[in-house]
Amino acid sequence: MDEGKTTSDLLALGSRYWLPVYRPRAIVLDRGEGARVWDLDGRDYVDFGAGIAVNALGHADADLLAALTAQAGKLWHASNVFYTEPPLRLAAELVEAAGFAERAFLCNSGAEANEAAIKLVRKWAAANGRAPERRVIVTFRGSFHGRTLATVTATAQPKYQEGYEPLPAGFRYVDFNDADALAQAFAPGDVAAVLVEPVQGEGGVTPAAPGFLARARELCDAHGALLALDEIQCGMGRTGTLFAHAQDGVVPDIVTLAKALGCGFPIGAMLAGPKVAEVMQFGAHGTTFGGNPMAAAVARVALRKLASPAVAANVARQAQALRDGLAALERGRGLFAQVRGRGLMIGAVLADEHKGRAGDILDRAAAHGLLLLQAGPDVLRFVPPLTITDAELADGLRRLAAALDDFAGA
Ligand SMILES: *Cc1c(COP(=O)(O)O)cnc(C)c1O
Repeated sequence: MDEGKTTSDLLALGSRYWLPVYRPRAIVLDRGEGARVWDLDGRDYVDFGAGIAVNALGHADADLLAALTAQAGKLWHASNVFYTEPPLRLAAELVEAAGFAERAFLCNSGAEANEAAIKLVRKWAAANGRAPERRVIVTFRGSFHGRTLATVTATAQPKYQEGYEPLPAGFRYVDFNDADALAQAFAPGDVAAVLVEPVQGEGGVTPAAPGFLARARELCDAHGALLALDEIQCGMGRTGTLFAHAQDGVVPDIVTLAKALGCGFPIGAMLAGPKVAEVMQFGAHGTTFGGNPMAAAVARVALRKLASPAVAANVARQAQALRDGLAALERGRGLFAQVRGRGLMIGAVLADEHKGRAGDILDRAAAHGLLLLQAGPDVLRFVPPLTITDAELADGLRRLAAALDDFAGA
């Protein structure tokens, strides 16, 4: 194998050997600190993406590193045939922090957490004597729930599903934030659950409208259905509260977490409330790696730090600075139709004449030393580390301004 280590050698390996399902920008990232990352050639970038809303405590957080290395020196893996301490403590801490939940299932990714939630809904419906055709799960257009067959079916966006048919049965799609359409979806009397992101992430950074989740809760209660919230992207402090749904005043039956839960170390979780906590018994579900002691040790520290008032205060402060900065950038440019979101989960919707060009702007941002994400072709997505500093944010906005000037001049 080629052991050359220039950036172009490495990029050649990617294009030759990776299944070509990704199209990363032509840089190779090497190390990071806070909200700043360096590539192999020593160029620095301000990180407004945090991976994909994952590195919520930035890069190289000393406490996360200490937790990881301490556990890595003791025991890497024990499966779930045996107990280790970190996942026992993490489950307890997540359940206590969530308030509504009684039990937790630990896994390795967001898709796996949602897959567990979907299976839990089905098992609960079965235990309540509902025939398979009366176990429908309602999800929303523009949602994203993962890439496994069941979660991609829950993901009500055709672009993720095309070519993977036959898809599993038992899902029904409704327009997001359309309370009347949601009520109609219950009419056949076959709905077992509603699965919804409090803030849609991949689909365009769209928050649930005021009262929408409360209405979903009412409909679920009226029809004997469960409310499952996908907080994989919007949870863990990103919107200014540890759980996004705290701002919607609803009590869910199931919540899924992943992304920022391990701040970059892979881990997911499904939290189960009283109606469903005892439904899955011995042998009903499982995973080899889930609750890995290294992942759980890291996630315990992540949970403690992301739940702190200091992080919440910084989210509020930097969200305002980012919105002010975007408003200033917008003056005279006319690039954005709307800036929306909650906390440090912000989407800038491109104006009509720039629709479809988010990818072009991301290319230019990277060229100007800014790591930025899109949420579909029309929305720039800002999900920086929740610990980003005033100076890092201001630097990122300067680089964004240069990228947008480039874009507007092109
Ligand atoms: C990223 C994401 C997922 C899938 O998580 P993976 O770890 O990529 O499987 C599911 N739901 C939401 C809301 C997400 O943002």
